Amino acid sequence: MIDLLNLTNAQMRELLAEWDEPAYRADQIDRWIYQELVADFSAMSNLPRELRARLTETARIGVPQVITETKSADGLVRKALLALSDGQTIETVLMLYPDAPGSPELEEPHAAARSFSRRTVCISTQVGCPIGCPFCATGQAGYIRNLTPGEIVAQVLHMARGAAPITNVVIMGMGEPFMKFDVTWQAIQTLVEPARFGLGARRITVSTSGEVPGIERMAREKLQVNLAISLHAPDDELRNQLVPLNRKYPLKELMRAVRGYLAQTRRRVTFEYALMDSVNDRPEQARALAQMLKGLLCHVNLIPLNPTAASPYRRTPYDRVKKFERILSDAGIPTTLRVEKGIEIAAGCGQLKQVTSRKSQVMLAAPA
Ligand code: SAH
Ligand code: SF4
Repeated sequence: MIDLLNLTNAQMRELLAEWDEPAYRADQIDRWIYQELVADFSAMSNLPRELRARLTETARIGVPQVITETKSADGLVRKALLALSDGQTIETVLMLYPDAPGSPELEEPHAAARSFSRRTVCISTQVGCPIGCPFCATGQAGYIRNLTPGEIVAQVLHMARGAAPITNVVIMGMGEPFMKFDVTWQAIQTLVEPARFGLGARRITVSTSGEVPGIERMAREKLQVNLAISLHAPDDELRNQLVPLNRKYPLKELMRAVRGYLAQTRRRVTFEYALMDSVNDRPEQARALAQMLKGLLCHVNLIPLNPTAASPYRRTPYDRVKKFERILSDAGIPTTLRVEKGIEIAAGCGQLKQVTSRKSQVMLAAPA
């Protein structure tokens, strides 16, 4: 069975050409999948009956099965635990942001969700994550495999079906998105393609733990997707512990790649920095960070550390967060504090993980 979500529009056209179907059928199918959000081929009413039958026999729309769905008490965050076709699981989060008044009246079933002006999906790119940051639940749960482009896109499809058009996508769920750059980029292409989701590239943000070749490739891409980099430490010694990928791409190399990216794109980069009590939150560390970022077209997003089971780290108390923020702002570095969302349902940054079954434990232990 071909998962149609794994095909680019060009590949969809090739498939239909092989079947002696006109090229416009590819666009019709795309529209059904990505705009009408239909789940099966029988609903594609403008396709000839024989084509629908052939699709049913040979292809599928690989939207994952929902195992559980949880909602925060205020209803603004929804987290889905999804099962992929091989039984592996991932988590995907929808965040609704309260509206500006006067938004248009919309019809059921989406009226409730549509009254929020921003509807952001946070998607995963891997089952688990091989980077292994010690403060992150995904990193602590181990690594199983990469997702396919279709499995990445399917998470947006799933949330779009329940929550009206999605306005923003952040690739900040489970996994390091640049470990398989082509896969992540194909998913992004599907999200922006006008005949598919038609999302503006500027409404998409991809967060990397510092995979330098990915940053270099993104610098060459035309799409104006936003780049966020998980920094978390102003020196190599500390960053080696907090973000182990730093041993492969130390700060000097990372910052060289960022400067290259800025020179080529002139697009502001976001640096994420999760504040951990007495680990990376001291005033001299704030000053070192400001020094490192001085003069760059950037923005620092300070994240209150979210609790995870295995993490030895604690969150910085609020007064010291404000102090850290002040030092950066005074040094001329634009700084914001990330708003906490969905912590009580473990849907916050770094809280997502797969269900580790015995089967997946065996897979983890197996040689690569
Ligand atoms: N793997 C990518 C993207 C997913 S993580 C990356 O690391 O950039 C999204 C953000 O949440 C990253 O900045 C990550 O460092 C941060 N994060 C991880 N665990 C966290 C935790 N326990 N509390 C707060 N932020 C966390
Ligand atoms: Fe992976 Fe990002 Fe978690 Fe680090 S913070 S383990 S890179 S998902």
